[in-house]
Amino acid sequence: PETGVCVTRSKALSRVYDLLEEVQLPREFAERYPHELSGGQRQRVAIARGIATNPRFVVLDEPTSALDVSVQAEILELLKGLREKYNMAMLLITHNISVVSYMADRIYVMYAGKLMERGPKAAVIRSPAHPYTQALISSVPQVGKLMRRVVLKGDVPSLVNPPRGCRFHPRCPVAVAQCGWTADEVAEALRRLAEARYVELSDRLSIKVLDEATLVVTGVTSSELKSIVDAESDTARALKSIDSLKEEGGGVLVKLANYMEPPMRRVSEGHYASCLLINPKT
Ligand code: SF4
Repeated sequence: PETGVCVTRSKALSRVYDLLEEVQLPREFAERYPHELSGGQRQRVAIARGIATNPRFVVLDEPTSALDVSVQAEILELLKGLREKYNMAMLLITHNISVVSYMADRIYVMYAGKLMERGPKAAVIRSPAHPYTQALISSVPQVGKLMRRVVLKGDVPSLVNPPRGCRFHPRCPVAVAQCGWTADEVAEALRRLAEARYVELSDRLSIKVLDEATLVVTGVTSSELKSIVDAESDTARALKSIDSLKEEGGGVLVKLANYMEPPMRRVSEGHYASCLLINPKT
């Protein structure tokens, strides 16, 4: 089969000219150095190198991220044309929803190394089912449509020690008890609340984590702690995971609910998302 690998200088040069033409650059560019090219021209050369061996499958990692908007559009148009002309499959990795919307047939939404949602472009963009996808799509303004922007708090977690359960749970605005909370996260939420909103407690509150699902809080009664949990769990969602509070040995023994890995659940034809809040459809 044709590999595109050339064996003589004249063949190689002829192939270079063909490739430059494919990416809409003049032949003279064969003699230029990278520093003599603009960002868009360098990207065209990178695309030419990518297709030099006539691949059937190309991986494009943020192909337009360093370019200004008008050049981005040209590069995407070029890629689309090449995809159709050579019937290539393309895997496009990007954070830019507009680029996804323009280029993709199918969308796979990843977060912290895990697949959160997948499906046909129209289904995922029009009816995102996973809270992370919903936040991503809400960040893109749409003409003539009033949208509620979902702003995620916190940072992307460490992949060395990723959150248990659903990896998105520390930032999920609708996380529930079983999403993967640990005793450390509950302790941190209680300390922050004491410092910010219950200052009268902050001096006497002491928290000891016994294991991943158990902690002991001293300096409060179980009824005081319960009213804090009831009042604050919609904003400090780690508190949703508290399953029981029991006074024991001079403190309050706090036990957390069991957690679950969210399975991929069917949303509609070919559209799946990994979230405990999705009712499975057959
Ligand atoms: S399982 Fe769903 S609700 Fe729970 S943290 Fe993950 S995305 Fe949020």
